[in-house]
Formats: sequence, C-alpha cells, structure tokens
Amino acid sequence: MRRFMRKVTRDVMPTMNWIILALLALTMTAVAQQPASAPQNPQPAPAAQPDPTSARPSSAPSSQTPPAQAPVNLAPPTTMDQVVDRVIMREKDLIKFLAPRTPIVETYLQNLTQDKQLGPIPQDDHYFLGRMDLSESIDRSDFLQDKDKGKDESMEKRLLGGLTKKFKFQYQPLGFSWMIFVDRNDFDRQHYDFHYARREFLGDVRCLVFDLTPKKDAGRGRFLGRIWVEDQDFSIVRLNGTYAHPSRNSYYFHMDSWRLNLVPGYWVPAYIYSEEGDFTAGAHNTIAFKAQTRMWGYNLKTGAANDELTNIRVDSVKDDTPTAQDATPLAAEREWQQQAEDNVIERLERAGLLAPEGDVDKILQTVVNNLEITNNIELPRPVRTRVLTTSPLETFSVGNTIVVSRGLIDVLPDEGSLAMVLSHELAHIVLGHNLGSQYAFNDRMLFSDESTYQNFGFKHIPEEETAADKKAIEMLKASPYAQKLDTAGLFIKALQQRAPSLSALLQAHLGNSITDNGTVTRMAALATSAPALDWNKLDQIAALPLGGRVKLNPWDDKVEIVKAQPVAITSARDKMPFEVTPFYPRLARYSNANAAAATTAAAPSTTATTANANPTPAN
Ligand SMILES: [Zn+2]
Repeated sequence: MRRFMRKVTRDVMPTMNWIILALLALTMTAVAQQPASAPQNPQPAPAAQPDPTSARPSSAPSSQTPPAQAPVNLAPPTTMDQVVDRVIMREKDLIKFLAPRTPIVETYLQNLTQDKQLGPIPQDDHYFLGRMDLSESIDRSDFLQDKDKGKDESMEKRLLGGLTKKFKFQYQPLGFSWMIFVDRNDFDRQHYDFHYARREFLGDVRCLVFDLTPKKDAGRGRFLGRIWVEDQDFSIVRLNGTYAHPSRNSYYFHMDSWRLNLVPGYWVPAYIYSEEGDFTAGAHNTIAFKAQTRMWGYNLKTGAANDELTNIRVDSVKDDTPTAQDATPLAAEREWQQQAEDNVIERLERAGLLAPEGDVDKILQTVVNNLEITNNIELPRPVRTRVLTTSPLETFSVGNTIVVSRGLIDVLPDEGSLAMVLSHELAHIVLGHNLGSQYAFNDRMLFSDESTYQNFGFKHIPEEETAADKKAIEMLKASPYAQKLDTAGLFIKALQQRAPSLSALLQAHLGNSITDNGTVTRMAALATSAPALDWNKLDQIAALPLGGRVKLNPWDDKVEIVKAQPVAITSARDKMPFEVTPFYPRLARYSNANAAAATTAAAPSTTATTANANPTPAN
C-alpha cells in the first residue's frame, strides 16, 4: 500500500502548476515536430486562396469568391470619419468571413426570483443547443428535440419568444443575428450616428469606444448602445446595448457581446451575456432572467448534413506488419470494444460536442489514476477521460473513456468532488457495465451532427447505477480523497437544494441524469455524512458558478483551465452556486505565441504583455 501511495498525486485542482509545466514541455515538443509549412488551425485565409474547409456545396455565391481576406495593409486613418468607415468595412468583412461557417450556439438561461438572503436566484431554467448557419440569412438547426414546438419555428423565436406564456415577444431580424453583429444588413452611416466616446483598454487591447444611435427613420430593431473597436484593424471587439424601437408587445433584450481574436485579422463572436429584471423596491418585473450564450465549432470540418457521407473515414482493415496474427476471441472482443469507443469519441468530436484531447483531460486522468492505484485496479485497456463541450451537468462512459461535461467541471468546488464524479464512471468500467459495442458498426456513425442526441445514448439501467455508486464510494474511501469527501457531500446537498429550479441544467443528453424528478440520486449517500449546508458560512464553498473553471476556445473547441485570481467572497450572495454570471474575457490580440499558449494552459509567454494574453471569462 505504501508503495502505491507514493505514486498518488495530491491536490491536482488547487496547485496544477507542475502538471501545466510538464504539459508545456509535451506540447512544445509536439509543436516543434510539425513541419513549418503545414497548415495550422486556426489558419489565416490568404487573399487569393479559398479556405478548403469552408467551401460548402450549397452556398454557391460565397464559395465562388474567396471567402475571407486578412485585412490588407491600408493606410492608417487620420480622422474619426475615416475610422468609422474602416469599422463599417471590417464588420462587413467579418460577415463575409463567417458566412460559410456553421458554429454551435448554446444558450443557457435562468429565470430569476428574489431570495431574501441570497438575492436574485434561479427559479427555473432553459437550455438551447443548435447550429447556426451564418450565410445569406441566419438560420439554425437544433440538437434538442422539442415536442411542444413546430419544427419550422426557429430557435431564436423559441428562445426570445417562448420564454413566458404571459408575453408574446416579436423580433424583427432574427434574434441572434443582431446579437453577434451590430446590424447584419444595414450597418452604415445612413442608418446610424457614431459618437466617439474615448479610448479604453479591454484586457491587453487598446480600443476606441463609440456610442451608436440609430437615425430617426432607420426603422425598428436597430442597435442602440456602445461598441469597442480595437485600434489596429478597427474590428469591433465588444458590443453592449440593446435594439431600439420595439413595436407594441415586443421586447428587445439587453446584451453584452464579446468577440475573440482567434484567427489572424478577425474577431469572432464568442460570448453573449443577457440580463433583464429589476429587483429594487417597488420594481414590477414582467421578466427577469440571466442568460449566457456561447459559440464554438467555427472550424468544424463538416458544415452541413449533406457533407456527412463524403467525410466518413474508411479505416484500413489491412495490417501490414509481418508479425500480425489473428486475435484470440478475448482479444477480438477487446478490439471490438475499442473500435466502438473510438468511433463514438471521433464522431462526438466531429460534431463539436467533445473537446479535442488536451490539458483538462490530463487533470481528470490524474484523479482517475489516483483512484486506480490506491484501489489496485488493473484494467486491460487504460481509462481515458474527455470533456464534453456543453453546459448541462452530465457524465457518461463509453468503453474505457469517461466523459465529463464542461458545465459539471465548472461547478465542482474541489478535487475531492471531481474524484466523486469520476469514481462513479470508473466504477461502471471496473464492474464491466460495458455500453456502446453496437457503435463498432460504422453505419451507426452516419447521421447529421444535429441528430447526435437521437443516435447516441449511454444510459445505464437503475441496478447498474446503484451498483456503480456503491463501488464508487468504496473506491473513494480507499483513496487519497477519503478525507476530502465532506465537500463532495456538500456539493450534493447544494445541488439538491437547487435541483428543482435547474431541470434544464440537470437534463443529461447522452448519459444518466444526476437527478431524478428534482431529487439528486447520483452518489447521494455522500450527503448524509457531510456537514450542514450554510450559505452564510463564507468559507463553505459547496458549488461554483458556471463558467469559472473551464474555458472553451470557440475556434478549435479546445478546453483549458481558466487562470483567474480568486476573488474574496464577502457575502452569501457572492457564492452564486450553479448560476449564470456575466462574461468578462481578457481580450488579447492573436499571435502565434497566443496560439501556442492556448494549447498549453499556462505558457510562460515570451513577453510580459502576452503572459496573461488568453481571454479568460472571469466571474
Ligand atoms: Zn452511471
């Protein structure tokens, strides 16, 4: 036992520096091995050369012309009028650049109610996941089936028009098209007045700030608010405001929309925070909510469902190594499981639902390793871990791969609670609750990205769930996390308290839900031995807000751990467990150094100015 214990890694979550350093070395080697001329992702789109990944057969006009041009070296503008012209031109360039792309859009929304002690807290919630087509007109296809609504109704209408039965919302241009662009069709001097306000830094980026007001007769649904424009190419990096002149019975939400410089020359829409509601005395709230919208998957290879068949990779069945032998029945069985597992992982990654292998996986893997070593678990194939890119709190395993959602990692307070989450899935693997061997057949991978949730499922029967919980608790008690299970239990208690208001966040789409009808079922036994949950105890952190731990790169879907200075909690209201908060990414210009840093979590960059250059959604 002693001998094993020495290999156990302690405190992965609070002090990850050593891991990060080790990973840095690894990644640097990987980068160095790539040929210098190899096309990199994200890649600049040279003026005369169409980006092969962005050509879509269906969008004829945009695929004929080069879809994207890095900004040409224009003479720097000398007057504010010239700056405004440049801003307008750059926005139009961005619309053109994004036209062939179909990013994933996720909106998670919490309706609020006033709590005497905690302030506005979630009352109920809504979740939307779709793929946005940014060509001619903005359209979406949804991942989630909605039995109540007609298929023809767009996500925008449902999100923005279906919030409450009491009010009928009407939106002139479709919802998200305004939220990511200032004005998709009419962003010009005929429709808007520009008033220069000041210079201001957003993160490392110096910006010019303009207030925008629609002209008198510009019509309904025009942007009204402030834009931040970086001072080199004059791209908009942030918009904050609303849309003016709602008609009767319609309502425009306020929004704060952020873009990131993830490709040379372009700032792509990444985060939108919306909030409505007034909780001051005497305020009459017709509507009160907070919502986070995230976009990612800009660089996904398959843009449309009709690309699917041409993109299916046919694996070579020949093994040319001279020593190749036929597999024994057991070896064949394992090979079969591996194939199923690989198929599923590859398919989920291609749909933008699974982050590419990266540093967060290494952290999860370390925890799994600790559990395995201390429990003398030896498996024929190594256990792998991967991160689902979505917010709902869920886990599942396919073969020997454990998958945990970004949202779940976000809200876990410490390493012990992460161990709790991983131990349940590890228990399924140890107990041989194998799922998914049907996916070794490649025909089962042939579906559109949007129908992933209808084609994949990794749910266990209740008996296996109970057995996995029991085994997991056994493993935890023999592990280095045995002394840290109080916080894990507190997490369960906090979740139990909030579960009835968070049904959308707790709805699992691929695996078993953590709750059943508003009651936490997963690992619930841990709650009984945990201390009492007390929101007023400021040093008791039972669960974190969403978005505080994992950062998702909207361009290449890579995930990394957020590097943010913890901010002291001064009241129970600061805890915000499972809650939506505004975005405040640290903006930085694209550079190769940044691109390298993005893959290494904490690259000590070459200069001080880029040391913290990665955009960090902070709370
Ligand atoms: Zn399970």
